[in-house]
Amino acid sequence: MALTHCPECGREVSDLAAACIHCGYPLRATAPMTFWKTVGAILCALAIWTVAGFLLASLLHAF
Ligand SMILES: [Zn+2]
Repeated sequence: MALTHCPECGREVSDLAAACIHCGYPLRATAPMTFWKTVGAILCALAIWTVAGFLLASLLHAF
């Protein structure tokens, strides 16, 4: 654990803290959420394309 400076109030806060303990400024809680939302969106898109490709292949084989 290390200390960093809050960009909002400039006081020392833990770099593991989700928000500044002094002013409540969100420090890093939003970054992992955005990252996992992006990963989830990519996985969803891949799953949809896999299913769509499978259905399309099935349709092409049927005719
Ligand atoms: Zn602060």
